[in-house]
Amino acid sequence: MKSILNISIIGFLVGMVGTGLGGICAMFVKNTKDKFLSILLGITGGFMLGIVCFQLLPQSYALGGIWNEVLGIVLGTLLILFVEEKFPQDKYEPLLKSGLLLAISIGIHNIPEGLAIGSSFMMESNIGYILSLAMLIHNLPEGLTLAIPLKLSNVSNLKILLITLLAGLPTGIGAFIGAYLGNLSSIFISICLSFAGGAMLYIICSELIPNAKALHNGRTSTIGIIIGFILGLFF
Ligand SMILES: [Zn+2]
Repeated sequence: MKSILNISIIGFLVGMVGTGLGGICAMFVKNTKDKFLSILLGITGGFMLGIVCFQLLPQSYALGGIWNEVLGIVLGTLLILFVEEKFPQDKYEPLLKSGLLLAISIGIHNIPEGLAIGSSFMMESNIGYILSLAMLIHNLPEGLTLAIPLKLSNVSNLKILLITLLAGLPTGIGAFIGAYLGNLSSIFISICLSFAGGAMLYIICSELIPNAKALHNGRTSTIGIIIGFILGLFF
């Protein structure tokens, strides 16, 4: 059951189905109601904040303790900072830039998530399944948030679907590498999880929350963030 092939397939499914479904949901979003979009982006931002706080970081802490957790957060933050730095800033409109940057950042942060899935399947407990399910659920809002700015920039539905699937692909690659390398010690999985958490934290703070605020200048996005955060408690 726990062959490298099976684990890789699970990884690809977790990444691509979750993010792809999010992308498909975004196709039905219309350009007109900014207030609705603002609350939707707020909810997804808050939900991902909840996932980082209640899922990724506690699991990281349980496996590796506080210092591995902090190390992962710092490394994840630095990586997305680097991606943002290298991204051609003036070439695209702000919203399109945001969507593409989100796609790249989420794609990169899916590698350590995949690594964590792959190597946790090699552990004795059933943590691999728990982690896979958790990642599948959390990939949905990730796909949605990267697809909404693309949709608003009039990117075609087919391209949106392709971009969301591509962003989910690294989860499968990570899962393959993680399973291939085998039981990589819980410290390594701990750092992978907080690494993904740190990267996500940066994306939430630099793209999601500012985007939600920019769409509608009112309280809606803030209320959305809190609703999303509460939803995160349930996963
Ligand atoms: Zn993620």
